[in-house]
Amino acid sequence: MNRRTLLKASALLPFVPAVDGQNIPSSTARKRSLRFAYLGDTHITPDSKPMESVAKCFQHAQSHADKPSFILHGGDVIMDALAKDRSDVQKQWDAWNSVVKANNSLPIEYCIGNHDIWGFENAKTDPSYGKKWAIDQMKIGNRYRSFDRSGWHFIILDSVQPKPDGKWYTGNIDAEQLDWLKQDLVKTGTKKPTLVLSHIPIFSPTGFFSDNNIKDGNWTIPAALVLSNTPELLKLFYQYPNVKTALSGHMHLLDRVDYNGVTYLCNGAVCGDWWRNDTYQQTKAGYALIDLYDDGTVERTYLQYQ
Ligand SMILES: [Zn+2]
Repeated sequence: MNRRTLLKASALLPFVPAVDGQNIPSSTARKRSLRFAYLGDTHITPDSKPMESVAKCFQHAQSHADKPSFILHGGDVIMDALAKDRSDVQKQWDAWNSVVKANNSLPIEYCIGNHDIWGFENAKTDPSYGKKWAIDQMKIGNRYRSFDRSGWHFIILDSVQPKPDGKWYTGNIDAEQLDWLKQDLVKTGTKKPTLVLSHIPIFSPTGFFSDNNIKDGNWTIPAALVLSNTPELLKLFYQYPNVKTALSGHMHLLDRVDYNGVTYLCNGAVCGDWWRNDTYQQTKAGYALIDLYDDGTVERTYLQYQ
C-alpha cells in the first residue's frame, strides 16, 4: 500500500470522537444505551450571576440535537447549607427551584453533596436538620438509592457523613449503607453494567491538588476529598466486573482514572471557582455529556456552557 492509498484507507476508518472514552472499540458492534447530562456543584445563590449561569447551563444541556434523556446532579446544588440559618438556606433552594422551573424540562436525579446538608447549629432539633431538607427538595426519598435505566444499573451513594458538630464532615460510606450496597450488588448480579455516583470521589488524583495537601513535606489527603473506605470499595467492585464507571463531583476538577476495569470520572463544576472565576485551577466551569453503551463502555464529553 503506498502513501496515497494508505491515506485513502485511513479516511474510511471509523471516526473516533475527541472524548475520553474507555477503550473505544472501532467496531460498530456496541449500541448506545443512553445519554444523560451530568451537572454538579451548581452552588446556586439568589444572586444574578449564579442564577443566569445555571439557567444557561440547563439551556445548553438541552440544546443538543442528540439530546440527553435526563440530568444527573452530582450534589452541591446550593452554595451552602452547612452553616446558614433557615431563611438563608430557603432562599438558596428557592433560587434553584425557580431556575429549574424556568429552564429545564428534563427529569433530574440527585445525589447529596456536603453543602446541601443543613448543619446550622441552632437547628439541631428542627426536623429538617441534616439531610432531611435536601432529601425533600431533591425528592429522592432516601439519602442513597439505586434504579435501572435503559439496561444500566445506577447506584447513587451518600458519601458525606457530618461530624457531631454538624458543620464538618468526613467522606465515607457508613456501615448501614455499605451493607445495603453489598446487597444491591448481589441483587444486580455480575452482568448488568453498573454506574456508581458519589459526591465525594471514591478514587481521584485531584485529592492531591485541590488544596494545599502537603504538610511537613508529606502528602496528607483528608477523607473529605477521597473516601476513607475507598480500599474496601475497590475490593468490592473487583468482585463485580459489571461495575463499569464511578462518577463524582466535589473537587470542581476534571479527571479520569481507569483502575481494575472501572472508569472513575470526576466531572468539574458548573460554578467553576464557586462563581469567583470561570476556571478553578485548570478546570473550566462546565458540565458533561455521558454516553453509556450496552457493552459497558462509557464516554464523557466535558462542555463549557458560557
Ligand atoms: Zn462543591
